[in-house]
Amino acid sequence: MMISIIVPVYNNSTTITELTERIHNVLDHESYEIIFINDGSRDTSLQVLRNIAKEYTQVNVISFSRNFGQHSAICAGFEHAKGDVIVLMDADLQDRPENIPQLLEHLANEVDVVYSIKKESEQSIVTKITSRFYHYIFSKIVNVNVPRNIGTFRSFNRKVLNALLKYEEVDILYGPLMFYVGYKCRFVEVDRDLRSDGDSSYTFQKRLILALRSLITYTNVPYVIFSILGTALLVFSLLYGVIVFLQYLFIGKQLPAGLTLIVVYLSFLTGSLMLFLGILGAYIYRIFQQVLRRPRYLVDEIIDNR
Ligand code: UDP
Ligand code: MG
Repeated sequence: MMISIIVPVYNNSTTITELTERIHNVLDHESYEIIFINDGSRDTSLQVLRNIAKEYTQVNVISFSRNFGQHSAICAGFEHAKGDVIVLMDADLQDRPENIPQLLEHLANEVDVVYSIKKESEQSIVTKITSRFYHYIFSKIVNVNVPRNIGTFRSFNRKVLNALLKYEEVDILYGPLMFYVGYKCRFVEVDRDLRSDGDSSYTFQKRLILALRSLITYTNVPYVIFSILGTALLVFSLLYGVIVFLQYLFIGKQLPAGLTLIVVYLSFLTGSLMLFLGILGAYIYRIFQQVLRRPRYLVDEIIDNR
């Protein structure tokens, strides 16, 4: 059984050497390959990776022409993987290579995907809130009771990989997609190490955008909300019109001189219309991106030891 370890690298020059050593120690007697995807790192990651690839024949490197984002890096790794089972992990040593056997062990005949769950929470409050929001949406759309604190660190078999490779959407997000494809999954709790060097490359803003992207591409929540709101507004204005008309007819009451009312109503209407247009725009933008069929990533250099 061949194991493919996929590791996106973005400014992780200080950790990837130790990561490789530790993976090697753990999988010493197994047949395995490591695919590092250098996602346009601005530090010396590429030089370090070149050296690692010289020392370890199991190590392969795909280096992008610029930063394309973690999911594009993962995609490149998936497309190049030769293994029967795939392990996906972060490069910053928070995911411990020593846990790989644990993930693989659960990948038994009945289970296709094994997700790691982070035990202790080292996240800030803002991160916690956004990731909770994100996972709430997850659970709603995929009908799996997705636990919170799910990590990148996971393993799955060739069957799942082939399914993932069928998705040709340009704006791919593997977080939701891996649940969306179905298959039997299991969750295991693993210890995580603290980030030894540097900060998370995900800011609050990046996480929020990620959550909104999955909301738009994997659910119909955005336009359902606005269809309901639109209908409610319509019903409200119709009823109001009828009431005013009836009052005029039977009581002889003139239209209330409520300029305030009109201003409030109009601004509410324009506000919600603008918001709705924005949401519509988000969908059209996605369609536009897909029509362009831009490559998901561009490779600058490949070191293939296979
Ligand atoms: N990463 C990447 N491209 C990016 C940002 C991150 O390939 O533009 C990789 C990074 O090298 C790491 C993983 O994605 O292996 C997770 O990144 P990070 O540790 O910064 O995020 P967090 O652990 O906070 O989710
Ligand atoms: Mg990390």
